[in-house]
Amino acid sequence: MVMLMISQTIKTFHSIKPYRLVIYVSILVWFLFTLIAEVFMQYDDNVSKFDSSLSELKLKLTEHEKQIEILVSGLAQQYSTDNMKNFESFAKYAETLSLDQKFFNNISFAILTQNNQVEALELEMHEQGFESFIVSNKGIFLPSSSSGHLPISLPIVQIHPLTPYNTMYLGQNLLLSDEIFNIFQEQKTDNTSRVIFQNSGITRELVVLFTHPVYSSNPNNFTPRELASNIVGLFLLNIDYPALVKSVIKEINMVKDAQNIKFVYQQNQQTSDTVLMDSNTSNQYNQIFNIQRQINISKLRPDAMLQITYSWGFKQINYLSLIQKTLISIFIFFLILFLVVLSIRYTSALQQMNQRMREILKSSQDAVMIIDSLGIVREWNPEAERLFGYAAKKAIGKPVLELIFNHKEMKSAPLNEQHLIKVLQSPEEYRNMSSTHKVEISLHTRSGFPMLVEVTYTVLNVFDSYETSLFIKDITNQRKNEEEISQLAYNDALTGLENRVYFKREVEEFCRTEQRHFSILFIDLDGFKQVNDSLGHSVGDELLVTIAHRLEQTLRTRDRGETHLCRFGGDEFVLMIETTNEDELSSISIRILNQLELPVKTQNEEIQVSGSIGISCFPQHGQDVDTLLRHADMAMYRSKDSGKNTYSFFEEEMSRALSERLLIEKHLRNAIYQEEFKLVYQPQLDLKTGNILGVEALLRWNNPILGSVRPDIFIEIAEENRQIIPIGDWVIKQCVEQLQKWQNTEFSNMYIAFNASSVQFEHPLFLKKLTEKVQQANVNPELLEIELTERTVMSNVSENIERFNAVRENGLALSVDDFGTGYSSLSYLKRFPLNVLKIDKSFIDGLPDDDEDASIASAIIKLAHSLNINVVAEGVETFEQLQFLKELYCDSAQGYFISHPLPIIDLEEWLKSNQRNFFNSSTYKKASEKQNSPAIEVQE
Ligand code: C2E
Ligand code: CA
Ligand code: CA
Repeated sequence: MVMLMISQTIKTFHSIKPYRLVIYVSILVWFLFTLIAEVFMQYDDNVSKFDSSLSELKLKLTEHEKQIEILVSGLAQQYSTDNMKNFESFAKYAETLSLDQKFFNNISFAILTQNNQVEALELEMHEQGFESFIVSNKGIFLPSSSSGHLPISLPIVQIHPLTPYNTMYLGQNLLLSDEIFNIFQEQKTDNTSRVIFQNSGITRELVVLFTHPVYSSNPNNFTPRELASNIVGLFLLNIDYPALVKSVIKEINMVKDAQNIKFVYQQNQQTSDTVLMDSNTSNQYNQIFNIQRQINISKLRPDAMLQITYSWGFKQINYLSLIQKTLISIFIFFLILFLVVLSIRYTSALQQMNQRMREILKSSQDAVMIIDSLGIVREWNPEAERLFGYAAKKAIGKPVLELIFNHKEMKSAPLNEQHLIKVLQSPEEYRNMSSTHKVEISLHTRSGFPMLVEVTYTVLNVFDSYETSLFIKDITNQRKNEEEISQLAYNDALTGLENRVYFKREVEEFCRTEQRHFSILFIDLDGFKQVNDSLGHSVGDELLVTIAHRLEQTLRTRDRGETHLCRFGGDEFVLMIETTNEDELSSISIRILNQLELPVKTQNEEIQVSGSIGISCFPQHGQDVDTLLRHADMAMYRSKDSGKNTYSFFEEEMSRALSERLLIEKHLRNAIYQEEFKLVYQPQLDLKTGNILGVEALLRWNNPILGSVRPDIFIEIAEENRQIIPIGDWVIKQCVEQLQKWQNTEFSNMYIAFNASSVQFEHPLFLKKLTEKVQQANVNPELLEIELTERTVMSNVSENIERFNAVRENGLALSVDDFGTGYSSLSYLKRFPLNVLKIDKSFIDGLPDDDEDASIASAIIKLAHSLNINVVAEGVETFEQLQFLKELYCDSAQGYFISHPLPIIDLEEWLKSNQRNFFNSSTYKKASEKQNSPAIEVQE
C-alpha cells in the first residue's frame, strides 16, 4: 500500500516536471528535520531521565547521611554515658553495634586533654601496649596555621578496627587541623553531628568524617555552657564515601550515564574537588552533548556537592526508534504530498474543464444559455449577447422568460412552446426527459425585434439541482433562404415561370398515370435573337418577362384541367395543357400567337415579335416527356419552315423526315446561345516528376431534348456546316478566360491545350481572333496550346507551314493530335515547328504486352525526341502502361488512369488534394503498392 502510494506519487512527479526539484529538496529537508528532531527529543528525554535519577541519588545519599548522623550521634551519646576508657571495651562496644559496616573505614574516639596532661596520657597509652603512641600532628589532615599554641589537645586514642593502617591515626591531635578545630568549637556547645570533607595529607585521598562530641555524662539536659564545660572528646566515624556513592549509583542504575563524578567542597576557603569516578573512556567524537549537574548531597555540609557530567552521544541514540520514527515521518510526508498533488491535479483538472467549457461557449455558433431551477439565467455566451443584444452581465441573474420570451405564461403560448416553458419553470419535473428537445419558436431581442429561432433544450443535473440548457439558433435567414432555394429549384429566375426540371418532373407524373390525356405546346419566338443582338440582353430579358406574363394571362381564362407553363430555355416556352382536343388546342394556339404579336413597349423601343408553335399529344405522339418534347419541337420547326407565326401538330412523317443528324444540326444552332456547352479539363502529367503541368480542354454538349451528345458525333456535323467556327471561338474564349482566372493563383503556370478542327484552323481570321483574345485578356500565349489532328496537319502542307510559323511567332504552342493514325511523312514533320506530339490511344492500348504497339510507341518517342518534340501518350488507362511509358522516356501522359476529364471546380480540387502531383494521389499509391506486393505476384 505504501509502495503503491509512493510509486503513484513518483509517477505524479514525473508529470509535474518543473516541481520535481522542489519536491526532492523538500523530501531531503523533511528527512533531515525528522532525524534531527528525533535526536533532540531522545536527548531531551534522556536528560530528563538523568535529572530524575540525580534527584533520586540525592535523596538516597541524604537518607544515608541521616542514618549515619543518627548512628554517630547515638554512639556519641552512649559513649558519654558508658565512659569506655580502654581499647577492649571500645572495640567491644564498636563491634556490638549492629552496623552495616560496608562503608565504614573506622570508628575512632579523640579525647580532650590539657597539654600538661598529655605526657600522662602518653604514658597510659604506652602502658596499654601502644608503645609508640605520641600526641602530635601526623599529617593525616591538613595542618593548621594558627592553632599550634593551644593549651589543649584532641588526640585520637581509640580506633576500631585496629588495623596496622588505622593505628596511624592514634595520637593525631585533631585540633591541629583548622577545619576540625573550628567545627569542634561549634559542635561542643550544641551537641550535633558534623561532616568533614578532607583530603588526606598522606594519601591525598578523600577522607569523610562524621563527628559528634562526647560529654562526661548524658548531655541531653545540658545548657550550652554546661555542654562546653562537660566536653570529654570527639567521636569520629570515617566513612568510605566514594564507595557509598558508587553503590547508590549502581543501585539506581545510572552508571553508564554518569561519565565523570566529582565531589566538590569548600576547604580552607578554597573549592576542592575529588574525582570519584571517571568513566570517560568513550571516544570523544561520539559525544554530542556534555552537560554538568551539581547536586547537594549533604544536609550537614551544604557546600559539599556532587558534580556529575552527563555525556550524550551516538551511543545513546536509540537507532531502532530513530529509524521507525523517520520511516513514519517519510510515510506521512508522502501521504501529505500525495494528497497535495491529488488536490492540485483535481483543482487544475477542474479549472481546465471550466476553461474548456468557457471556450466552447465562447466559440459556439449557437446562443447558449444555462437557466437554473428558478428560471434565472446563469450562463449567457457571446453569441447570445450578439443575438439578443443583452450583455452577459445584464442578462445573468434575470428570469429568462421575461428577458427574451414573448409568452411569459404557459397558457398563452403556442403548443410547441408550452413544453419548453414548463421545463424552464420546473426542470426537476422533467429530469427524466429523454435526451434533447428541439422547437422552432419566436423570441424577441432587447429592442423588441421578433426573431424566429430553433431552440434545442436539455435538463442538466448539476449537484443535485436541475438546470436547463438552451442552444438557440437564429433561423430567420435560413427559412428565407430555404424558401428562395425552393423557388429557384422550381422556378425560372427571370420570368418566375416553372423551370425545365420542375416542368419535366410534373409531366412525367402525368405520363405515369396514363389516364389523363394532355398536350405539349412548344413555343419558340421568331426573331428574338435579332432583338437580343441589336438591342442588348436587358431588352431581351424585358421582352421575355412580358411575354411570360402574357402567356400566363392566356391560360388564366381556362377553367378545366391542369396546365403547366415553363420557360424551357432562351426564347423557348413549353406549355402542358390537359386536353387533346384539336379544336381547343387550335384556339389556344391562336390566342397565344395573337398575344405574342402584340407590340412590347420597353424603355426606349417598341418591339414586335411573333412565335412558332409545335404541338404533340399524349399518348398518341409519345409515351414519355422526352419523346413528347422532341416531337413538339419537330412540329415547331414545321411551323418555322412554313413561314413562322403559326402552329403545327406533330405527324409521324415529320419524325421520319427529320433524321437524328438533322436534329443535332438544328439544335446545334442554338446551343451556344442556350448555353448548352461546357468545357471539361483532362490533366496531363510529367512522367519524370509526376507533376501536373497542364490540361486538355474537351467540349461537352448537353441538350435538353437530345441529352448529352458525344463530341466526336456533333463536332463532325459542326465541321460540315461550319458551325464549328463559332463553337471553336467559344472554346477559345473559355480557355483564355480560364487562364486569366488562374493568373496570380497557384495554377498560374498551368497550360491549356484546346482542340482546333481543320475548318476552324484554316479560317483566315483564326489566328487574328485568337491573338486578339489572348492580348485582351493579358494572358501568357505560351500557356495556350493548339491541338491539330495529324490529318489536319498533313492535309495542306505548304499553307500550313506558314500558319504554323505564324502561330509559333505569336508565342502559342502547337501539338499534333492522334499521331500515328494519319500518314505522316517524316520529311514534313521535320519542317513543322511543333512542340508536342500526342501518340494516339490505339498504340497505347496494347502496352506493355503487344510488341508491335511497343515498338511503334518507342519509335515515335525516339523520332520526336530527335526532332526536339515532346511526346504525350494519350488514353493511358493502367498503371502498367504508365510505367512502361516512363521506361520509354515518354515525356507526358494523359488518360483515365490519371484522371477523367473534369469540370473546372473538380479539377482544381483534385489538383489541390494531391499537391498537383499525381504520384501523391491515392490512385497511384494504391496501384504501385499492389505492384510491389510479392504476395499478390505469387498468387497470380
Ligand atoms: P481527342 O482530342 O483525341 O481527345 C481525347 C479523347 O479521349 C477525349 O474524348 C477523352 O475523353 C478521351 N480519353 C481520354 N483519356 C482516355 C482514356 O484513358 N481512355 C479512353 N477510352 N478515352 C480517353 P472526348 O472528350 O469524347 O473527345 C473526343 C474527340 O472530340 C476529341 O478527341 C477531339 O478530337 C474532339 N473534341 C473534343 N473537344 C473538342 C473541341 O473543343 N474542339 C474540337 N474541334 N474538337 C474537340
Ligand atoms: Ca485532342
Ligand atoms: Ca487524340
